[in-house]
Amino acid sequence: MARRFLLFVFICSLVLVARGSVADEIKASRKLKWPNPTIKIFLSSSLFSSAGAIKPDSDVRSAVLRALQRWEEPAQIEFQVAYSEINSISPKGPAGDGISVITVAPEPENLLAFNGKNENASGLTRVFYDARGSIMEADVALNPSQLYTTDKTPGTFDLEAVLTHEFGHLLGLGHSPDASSVMVDGVPRNGGFESFNFVRQLSADDKSKIRGVYGFDHSADGCCARIRGRLNTSAEISGPFLIWIQDTQSGALAEVEVTKPNRFYDFGAILRGRYEVVAQSYSPANPASGAVHSGSRYFQSHQNVVLAGPVKPVTFDVRYIGLSGELSRRAVIVNSGNSYRLVLAGPGLGNPELKFGTTSRDITIEAVRAETWTTGNGLAHRAFQLTVSRSVPVGQYSVFAEDPTGARRYLVGGISVN
Ligand SMILES: [Zn+2]
Repeated sequence: MARRFLLFVFICSLVLVARGSVADEIKASRKLKWPNPTIKIFLSSSLFSSAGAIKPDSDVRSAVLRALQRWEEPAQIEFQVAYSEINSISPKGPAGDGISVITVAPEPENLLAFNGKNENASGLTRVFYDARGSIMEADVALNPSQLYTTDKTPGTFDLEAVLTHEFGHLLGLGHSPDASSVMVDGVPRNGGFESFNFVRQLSADDKSKIRGVYGFDHSADGCCARIRGRLNTSAEISGPFLIWIQDTQSGALAEVEVTKPNRFYDFGAILRGRYEVVAQSYSPANPASGAVHSGSRYFQSHQNVVLAGPVKPVTFDVRYIGLSGELSRRAVIVNSGNSYRLVLAGPGLGNPELKFGTTSRDITIEAVRAETWTTGNGLAHRAFQLTVSRSVPVGQYSVFAEDPTGARRYLVGGISVN
């Protein structure tokens, strides 16, 4: 019997405006998995040569090892690291050479991959797998025409942050719609407002997703519940929905996904606890829906939840967030016991009847009077005083706007507490 072999290519580049990445996220939700818990990775000599895209004297080895280790515990896998003179990723095709390499060399195949619209990409990963979804090889290329550092040099890519993201792909994960995930498409350059350290840290969503793919240690404390079901809502809102699990007591985010066709969803490995399932429409081009909430319940093992509508169309949305005037779809990073000037932007947010809040009672946002403005692209901006209490647990939380009927739109994972 002939075996079919397949290939996924993840190209990672940061875009600050919303774009049509919904289809990619759904496509990448297929479960790819290494068949064995030990994965051999070859570091190309290009990572250690003095000339090239990595700043000389960078501690490359430590950055690579930390980025790998970050995934080992939640995935219950072990990376074996070796060195190689192979500098080229395997060409596109049904199968590679079976050797998984990490490279930054300006080899023809690597340069080709970053051609044209990919010239500013922070990295890419080619995953070769068989018809059953077993990964046979995954090559990671850093962009030879960019500069990578380990010392926060402004304007450069943080080597460890980029590799942490690419290793998520190497293990089979796609991009995440959780604003606080290391798997958000693209990695921001150093020197921006987005916290440098944070983008190296796995969010609850990242850990939950990788546990869901690789299984988990059943003896581990608090692990795990599988929550799946279908979103059963009125048909007037087309397209996929964003669906997520949040801790009822703390408001912390556990996992986020985009609904599959027929609006099915499947959260594979949530830590046991009391949660709420929430969903809202996820097509920036289409009218937004207010969020649907399941109500709180205790999840212990395998449970089905049919989340039923009605879904109410709304004319506002929380699309962007930022702390210093620069806005993005990526979480803002805050510390407990501090307060910040927060800006939210999205269509319709200038409406004075809207209320704003977060999913944590320890994180408050209060509108700053008269600080509302609209930019050329039609997005309304609102300024807030964001206050984080001393007692808030480390985790990722969501921000919402609510109209007088109680309909809410969330920016899921928009606030991350370090
Ligand atoms: Zn990526």
